[in-house]
Amino acid sequence: MKKVPFVTKEQIEEIVKTYPTPFHIYDEKGIRENAKALKEAFAWNKGYKEFFAVKATPNPFLIDILREYGCGCDCSSMTELMLSHAMGVKGEDIMFSSNDTPAEEFAYANEIGATINLDDFTHIEFLEKTIGTLPETISCRYNPGGLFKISNSIMDNPGDAKYGFTTEQLFEGFKILKAKGVKNFGIHSFLASNTVTNDYYPTLAKTLFEIAVKLKEETGANITFINLSGGVGVPYRPDQEPNDIRAIGEGVRKVYEEVLVPAGMGDVAIYTELGRFMMAPYGHLITKAIHEKHTHKEYIGVDACAVNLMRPAMYGAYHHITVLGKENAPCDHKYDVTGSLCENNDKFAIDRELPEIEMGDYLAIHDTGAHGFAMGYNYNGKLKSAELLLKEDGSVQLIRRAETPKDYFATFDCFDIYKKMGF
Ligand SMILES: *Cc1c(COP(=O)(O)O)cnc(C)c1O
Repeated sequence: MKKVPFVTKEQIEEIVKTYPTPFHIYDEKGIRENAKALKEAFAWNKGYKEFFAVKATPNPFLIDILREYGCGCDCSSMTELMLSHAMGVKGEDIMFSSNDTPAEEFAYANEIGATINLDDFTHIEFLEKTIGTLPETISCRYNPGGLFKISNSIMDNPGDAKYGFTTEQLFEGFKILKAKGVKNFGIHSFLASNTVTNDYYPTLAKTLFEIAVKLKEETGANITFINLSGGVGVPYRPDQEPNDIRAIGEGVRKVYEEVLVPAGMGDVAIYTELGRFMMAPYGHLITKAIHEKHTHKEYIGVDACAVNLMRPAMYGAYHHITVLGKENAPCDHKYDVTGSLCENNDKFAIDRELPEIEMGDYLAIHDTGAHGFAMGYNYNGKLKSAELLLKEDGSVQLIRRAETPKDYFATFDCFDIYKKMGF
């Protein structure tokens, strides 16, 4: 499918008069349509809730849009819990799916009434020591090990993943938690990342529903929800077929009726913790071509770098690039598109066929709405960019200002050097 940016060259030329590049810009209309489609796809399940994975895009303005569609927050750390709580998200709408969790984070999650999703068997005792009486509702993260396959193709390798309880630990854990007075149970699992197939959730659901039936039979636990977590992906490449969320919801419904309903578990709520699927396609990193270099290869240097979008440098991830205003020009030039970090992996694209790029051209790097800005860092003293929201009415709202040197040096504020800089 041809990847079309949600902004035009003319719009960007207007926006940069106020907000210079680089910046991430998000598409309100796209976010809303997608959130609505997700909600409809799972409307068959009475208790359904999406807990948006805050780590993907920790911006309160964007999360507030999702909340209009009934979404809660899935948090993985103290600051994400603090953000969700400050936004007024109720405890029951906060899932705390962390791992290697510090005691103070468990304590805070419990204090604000978040649902705690335990990553490990030993965390039962750790949690009890930390907060005293266990909460009424607890979730456990399951990792069956081995390889996760969908009809013979290997999707991921849970056996090599640090997360979750083994099958044995899950049964033992439920028994212990029940004996300690826990009343309501959830099961959570995340077995494959960025899946671009409508079969991931239904396949995962089957595994979880079957184990839920066994857990109920063997331990008598009252299982109130099953959390399919994240992992539904997006087509980063133009040749990939996007997921159809309606087909995914329907696939899960089918398995639900096959496995849970006959076991008398037709009231179990389905939860999801999608991040990438909710936001990735609705963000672009907008950057300007500022240098061209003709050496052993042809390079285009842009004013963004890997600190604004780490995925290409970190995973070799593909992010589609559109040269704005040249959407229909032939891709008859081959470039490495680079940032300015003193690291040779700071390349947004390698040997990418693009239209001829002139200095001053604006590039839209696609699918940066999740795990984009959020993974940013400050190497080479680089500052994080602004985040903008392209509203449905075409206006633009600043939803996070760009960092300044003062922000960068703020952790020196107790030292003389900070004053010498004149802040
Ligand atoms: C990262 C994460 C998610 C979101 O994953 P996506 O791939 O962005 O959908 C959900 N739940 C947990 C526990 C995670 O760690």
